[in-house]
Amino acid sequence: MNGNNTVREFPHSPLTYLLKPGELILKKGNREAFERALKRNLVRLLGDSGRAETSPGRYYVHCGAETAPAVEDALNHLIGISGWARTRICPKTAGAVMAACAAEGRELFERGIRTFKIEARRTDKSFPLDSYRICAEGGNAVLAETPGLAVDVKNPGAVIEVEIRENAYVYSLAKRGRRGLPVGTSGRGLLLLSGGIDSPVAGYMMAFRGMGIDAVYFHAYPYTSEDARRKVVRLAEIVGRYAMGIRLYTAGFTCIQQRIRERAPLPWTTVLLRMAMMEYAERLAGKTGARCLVTGESLSQVASQTIENIHCIQGRTRLPVLRPLIGMDKEEIVKTASAIGTYETSILPYQDCCVLFSPPHPVLRGDPGEARKLYEALDLGALMEEALKEGTMEKCGFPF
Ligand code: ATP
Ligand code: MG
Repeated sequence: MNGNNTVREFPHSPLTYLLKPGELILKKGNREAFERALKRNLVRLLGDSGRAETSPGRYYVHCGAETAPAVEDALNHLIGISGWARTRICPKTAGAVMAACAAEGRELFERGIRTFKIEARRTDKSFPLDSYRICAEGGNAVLAETPGLAVDVKNPGAVIEVEIRENAYVYSLAKRGRRGLPVGTSGRGLLLLSGGIDSPVAGYMMAFRGMGIDAVYFHAYPYTSEDARRKVVRLAEIVGRYAMGIRLYTAGFTCIQQRIRERAPLPWTTVLLRMAMMEYAERLAGKTGARCLVTGESLSQVASQTIENIHCIQGRTRLPVLRPLIGMDKEEIVKTASAIGTYETSILPYQDCCVLFSPPHPVLRGDPGEARKLYEALDLGALMEEALKEGTMEKCGFPF
């Protein structure tokens, strides 16, 4: 804590960002653990680009101008904050705060903004002006400095925010944070990650709820190319940046796919392949410590995703299978994929194994009992062991 009139000096850190933590504010019981996770994630995402500092209710990042783009990129990837802004820091005197408001207003005008309002929050009640007066006097200071600006409390072009805490902070044009819960506060899940549009979004959505993510990709070389695998690695890197890194396991499924083609009735191949994926994933989860499986399934989007077939597929695992996209339509999923930056990679043309093996007339309403019998007849035990033994792992998107 600083004394009332001292400015905190950061000799090589001319820029400061203020961060508002998100939902964790509400979670009273877990608050400390959440704050610790958020701080840890922030520090890891920043790497050498900036220095993080915490104070009750706020986080700050100090950096030099040259690393500001890297800091902003980190803040754009940080799950668990409701907003952030570059801020001015000034001593807690009325004069200094008014001067900062005036300077902020001038900068807004130079950026083409013509109307504003001031919002003030006074955590330090020893500050001589209350919130109402900070707004009134701050507004006057802005108007005196920049007569071209006008106050508009209903629909302002920008809000100048003043916070009186351990220092005074003045900022505007705060960016919306990514929200969600800090990654690492909701256990671990194993994502079944294909090269498609859906599963990367599913992984992101669970990371958004605080879950750490491992991923498994089922590769069927040479039916699926090395390019297809690289695409999945790229997707894991993109999602990994939000999820604080993803361990991506690649499982060679060629022999298992061939066995299915040889022994199963053609209409059942897709459902049986999904069942094999579930079995593999459950066994892998046992090793990685994941407590659930995550898929990109969306109800009735394709034949294998009818509720009956989902029932058949679910039968291969006792772990909870989380399907965050189950109630979403494709348009919403595509929107999220675009927003998180996976869409462009997902639509690259490399075929995924399931497309290659998809039968012309798949079962639409598989019976779970029949599915189990057909699956057991495949006698995958030895092939499964072999695939588990041969699997590889690489780290994708780990920050720093
Ligand atoms: P996606 O866009 O995620 O590929 P999809 O709409 O193509 O999904 P399916 O191909 O039926 O749907 O796959 C359903 C889910 O099964 C996927 O979202 C993913 O979680 C998992 N999955 C499918 N293929 C693979 C694979 N080759 N490796 C890992 N997981 C897979
Ligand atoms: Mg797919």
